[in-house]
Amino acid sequence: MAKGSGGTRGAAGGGKSRFANIPGLQAIQDTKLRNEIISALDDYEKEFGVRLENISLAKLKDNVGGETYYKDKILLNSKVFTTSDNVKAVMKSAYDTGLLNKTNSPLKHIMVHELAHATWTPGYKSSNKSAQKEVLSAYRKFLKDSSAKGWGAYSKSKYTEFFAEAVAKHMYGTKDKHTQAVADIIKKYKL
Ligand SMILES: [Zn+2]
Repeated sequence: MAKGSGGTRGAAGGGKSRFANIPGLQAIQDTKLRNEIISALDDYEKEFGVRLENISLAKLKDNVGGETYYKDKILLNSKVFTTSDNVKAVMKSAYDTGLLNKTNSPLKHIMVHELAHATWTPGYKSSNKSAQKEVLSAYRKFLKDSSAKGWGAYSKSKYTEFFAEAVAKHMYGTKDKHTQAVADIIKKYKL
């Protein structure tokens, strides 16, 4: 977050969260939706630390599952992030088709998935070569493990999606040795 933009915490938004005043989130009219996003940021902060707070709505392609990310910001699809119920409906279809691993918090799932990408993606400024080697190794072990349960197809598409889905599963779904491996890498390298 740019210096100077974080000095009004608590002044608006009602919550005590330091994320309550992220400028880009003020465009979200549905208070419930905004509060759930802030709550996901708080959860991530507690677990791993949040290092990117530039989050805003944007017009994205329809086929983007709700949000995307760039080097220094997270963009939430403005067509999806209209209300809390709408985000949940979009996530429900991703759960029903087996694309994403199920969690008990679909809205927070999508947020921490993108936060995971934002904090570490190869080629980004947060890129860490040693971490990359370890994520790749964890991914290969995961692919070989036929007993791994509750994982969606997306986590098997590439190691960066495995990484992001592992974070969501670790925080809001069923933890296992693969989610733990990813959590350990994040903590080890302070990703
Ligand atoms: Zn992703």
